[in-house]
Amino acid sequence: MTLIALDPGLTTGVAIHRTRIKCPECHGVFGELRFAQHAECETLGRCDSNGFLPDQYITLVVHKNTEVRELIEYHRPTVTIFEDFNSGGLIDKNGQATIRLIGYIEAVTQVLNIPTCLQFPRERYPMIDPARQLIKAMNKKYLIHEVDALAHLLLYEDRVRRGVLDKITERRRTNKVTKA
Ligand SMILES: [Zn+2]
Repeated sequence: MTLIALDPGLTTGVAIHRTRIKCPECHGVFGELRFAQHAECETLGRCDSNGFLPDQYITLVVHKNTEVRELIEYHRPTVTIFEDFNSGGLIDKNGQATIRLIGYIEAVTQVLNIPTCLQFPRERYPMIDPARQLIKAMNKKYLIHEVDALAHLLLYEDRVRRGVLDKITERRRTNKVTKA
């Protein structure tokens, strides 16, 4: 499963959480587990007993709308989470770019039939510290936008875990996904 969270802006923060990633070493081209190879994997501790790699969090920033599209197209996330724009007053250049990008994200995910989850800026606050700790644990230089995106991702996962996501987000703008 893959989740992508976006903190849209002139610089867009991206956080990706990949779980149950099939180890490419011991899986064949059709995704089937190749047992001989897998035995070697287990000896080396490359993947777990089912041939899955360790869960992976990735954070990065991008600067172009098209890069956001490429990420979504490549990962085909189970859900795309993104921060909505929230301003009562005048909108500066950055704000305008953000609003355009949000429309773009909604269009791209709709075309690809990917559900979205809208979150508001202040909702991420309690998750900023955990997000920063997690990025630091990855020994990675990072930008604040990456922390913000990861905070949104952790918030989403926390709400799923606590079983409150639907209740909190049911009235929010989202894609109508047609299940195959
Ligand atoms: Zn393996």
